[in-house]
Amino acid sequence: EGPLQLLALSKACLRDCFPSLDVGDAFELLGTPKLASNTTTQQDEPAPHAVRDELTSVLGGRNVLANNSDDPEKAYAPWSLRYCGHQFGNWAGQLGDGRAISILETPNTSPNAEGQVWELQLKGAGRTPFSRTADGLAVLRSSIREFLGAEAMHALGIPTSRSLSLVGLPEVPVERERMETAAICSRVAPSFLRIGNFEACNGPNQVFLFGGGGKLEKGWEGMRRLTEWTKRLLGVQSTHDMVREVAKRNMRMGAAWQAYGFMHGVMNTDNISVLGLTIDYGPYAFMDIYDPHHICNHTDQEGRYAYRLQPTMLVFAVRALKEAIAPLVGAEVESGGAVKEGWADGADEETIEAWKEEGMDAMKHVEAEGMKVFEEEHWSLLRKRLGLKEQVSSDPDRIIRPYLDLMDTHSMDFHSTFRALGDFKPSSPDAVLDRLLDSSCSFQARQTWQEWLKIYSERLGQEKGTDAERKEYMRLANPRFVLRQWVLEEVIKRAQEDAEGSRPLLMKVLDMASRPFEPWGAEDELETADEELDEETREER
Ligand code: AMP
Ligand code: MG
Ligand code: MG
Repeated sequence: EGPLQLLALSKACLRDCFPSLDVGDAFELLGTPKLASNTTTQQDEPAPHAVRDELTSVLGGRNVLANNSDDPEKAYAPWSLRYCGHQFGNWAGQLGDGRAISILETPNTSPNAEGQVWELQLKGAGRTPFSRTADGLAVLRSSIREFLGAEAMHALGIPTSRSLSLVGLPEVPVERERMETAAICSRVAPSFLRIGNFEACNGPNQVFLFGGGGKLEKGWEGMRRLTEWTKRLLGVQSTHDMVREVAKRNMRMGAAWQAYGFMHGVMNTDNISVLGLTIDYGPYAFMDIYDPHHICNHTDQEGRYAYRLQPTMLVFAVRALKEAIAPLVGAEVESGGAVKEGWADGADEETIEAWKEEGMDAMKHVEAEGMKVFEEEHWSLLRKRLGLKEQVSSDPDRIIRPYLDLMDTHSMDFHSTFRALGDFKPSSPDAVLDRLLDSSCSFQARQTWQEWLKIYSERLGQEKGTDAERKEYMRLANPRFVLRQWVLEEVIKRAQEDAEGSRPLLMKVLDMASRPFEPWGAEDELETADEELDEETREER
């Protein structure tokens, strides 16, 4: 009910996922220059803002996209997928998806993406068959967080779902801790399938798919079909390989989270993508002062999802997938290849148990393989952030761990420290200290950093390029702009006061988050925008 406000659109997402969509007049509304379109429209000029209005009504969940196909294989309607999961380590049964509705799939036309699609999903567009007693809505605050968070992560090179749009529903009240208003974030990914979807068909009568113009899929056969689908997405042949790939991708993603100080906050198994993408942005945060014990979710009292435990929690999620899918893997092992339709029809509990055991045994190396991928990727990303191109096997112990420990001990800002180090010159090692440490720091802090810089300096002797080349290399690995909590809070506060009026700020922050590595200290647009934001907040702070 009530008006829809198109509050923000991601140009980067449009360009990457929907290159032929021309939504120029939507950008006019948003106060930003038109998106350079690579299509030439043959038709007459559309009526003023016709495209924008249509776009808004679709992305605002008001209009269902027409499906004109007579071919039942191609027929579709909006769909939602049911899932179960482990929340904070405990089995929670069916819990989702009560507020995400997918509205279309479109071919991914970029090179090397043959056969892949982009799925467009609305989060917070109202009730689905799986909403239980909840409203299916999302509040403006959380939609802004998801919208900006995903695009910021993508720009940092971290695997993630993308965000396309943010639509406010100012006259739709939502009751949470207090009354708020609703907003819909539209997001894009090759698929939003998650480990919880597999956990949802672990049983003879469990339904996992509703809608989509298709029939209901049930039980073990549902699991087989879901697996076939996922294997195709991942480009693997066997179910065992699928699990390995899910593990590796998630551990690679986790390595990037750690290297960039990203904390997810709710790593329940239903929030872990089978494609190894960061999904479901809730109470997430980027690290400010480096603290491995940091917990960003205030409801997480035992600190299960603390920064330092994230890799362990990804392993936990992979194990949940293994538990759910083990019977299928076991049956495949037994039959020496893929099982056929109806594979578990009439199988009694004992048979299922036996398959499960067999499957778990076959998959016993999955976690270890995943951890290996994590380690390699983690050190490789941190080397990059430290400007080290050569792979020296002593780096983790001699350089990287001591560096992280120093930041921890002296409570230093994670991202600023990496950035400051980009200015390091072995010929004048003390100069960078003034950037790293403020004048009030202890003598001891200065001394321990000097010692580390000496070792770092020696290590740089094993590198090939010049100081300037290393600086540039580090610039491209160490963001100048980080979507910190206070930035999000500022944007949210303004949007809650006046959603329409906050459009330019939303688009500005999106722009900064989308180009986080812009040149240091340059007098460019980004710098100006950054300063403006700073000034606005400075007073309050
Ligand atoms: P989350 O903790 O955000 O990952 O939510 C887990 C699941 O709870 C979601 O997938 C939804 O199915 C369900 N859920 C959360 N909020 C709502 C809501 N407002 N309406 C319906 N379902 C919801
Ligand atoms: Mg979720
Ligand atoms: Mg500390």
